[in-house]
Amino acid sequence: MRYPGWNREHYHRSLPNPNGAANVVSTVNKPHSQDSLFGVVDIGGTKIVAGIATAGEILATTKIATDVFDGADAVTARITTAIRDVQRQLSLESRTLDGVGVSVPGPLDSTLGVVSFSPNLHWVDYPIAARLSAALEGVPVVIDDDGNCAGHGEAAFGAGIGYRHQVYLTISTGIGGAVILDGRVHRGFCDAAGEVGHMTIVPGGPDCLCGNSGCLEALASGTAIGRRGGQLLAQDQSPLLAALAGNDPERVTAPMVFEAAAAGDALCELLLDDVATYLGLGLANIVHLLNPEAIILGGGVMEQGEVLLPRIDQRMRTHLFKVQREGLVVKRAALGDRGGLWGALQLIKGHVSDSGPAATAESIGLGG
Ligand SMILES: [Zn+2]
Repeated sequence: MRYPGWNREHYHRSLPNPNGAANVVSTVNKPHSQDSLFGVVDIGGTKIVAGIATAGEILATTKIATDVFDGADAVTARITTAIRDVQRQLSLESRTLDGVGVSVPGPLDSTLGVVSFSPNLHWVDYPIAARLSAALEGVPVVIDDDGNCAGHGEAAFGAGIGYRHQVYLTISTGIGGAVILDGRVHRGFCDAAGEVGHMTIVPGGPDCLCGNSGCLEALASGTAIGRRGGQLLAQDQSPLLAALAGNDPERVTAPMVFEAAAAGDALCELLLDDVATYLGLGLANIVHLLNPEAIILGGGVMEQGEVLLPRIDQRMRTHLFKVQREGLVVKRAALGDRGGLWGALQLIKGHVSDSGPAATAESIGLGG
């Protein structure tokens, strides 16, 4: 039997692995009847991944379009259908889910389960947790923003395993992150902690989408790298970028800048060196404030980690005290674009085990 929106290609059994990619196999271990069973959902601006998981394994997922213009309730209905489809495909349709964890772009109120305002999704004060719970016969639903979820996922299942104090940054279109202190996601007094992309690095620097200027995101995100590459092209300073982008400054992307730098373009190389300096400075500020043991760097820009990571690490360390530097680890994320889904799993596990929506040191494997 086939189900709408589902196909074999989307049928993943995924385990964390060091390369960040999910393993794809054609058969799935059936969970024991006493295993907890969770729904996991990662809502993005263009696509949603929904799946079924046990406490330690994402069993299968499916990917659907977000289609925000249908309205929020239509998105919730599609998520419900997607979860049911995966459950049926696993022959687990008779099992009641123990709960559902959802990663969603914020800002949001994780306690109330309400997305306050999401420019990507066009949602304002939408009670996604209550609506999804009602559609799934009352199972508990907990939500957190995508940065916190990805950081949570890395801490529990990925590159952050075993570190009590860690900071996660995702460097892609924008720069987001999560602060995990004593094994718990630190949310701040109104769920707005961890906005690492919006610390000011260069006063009066380039404008940021947040309304400020000179933010780390405006200097070192993938968007910022592409924009600065476009400026080089517009000034006729990069024949390599001109060739890669069809001579159109608007079409320059971060991967093109990396490609031109690797091919010997000195100005693109200098641009990336600036990016490493800005990120190093941002990380140093974070370390002075929080003294983490580990900093985990994810997102599309860090796929070029062999170029950037050693430089970011070195620039950061020049700003630190000896005691902060010693033992501090900076490493790349391990879960790739699945971090949010693993974080959603960790979120709902923590909730169901009655430790609240935040992970505890115990629940992420750090002991008491
Ligand atoms: Zn900003």
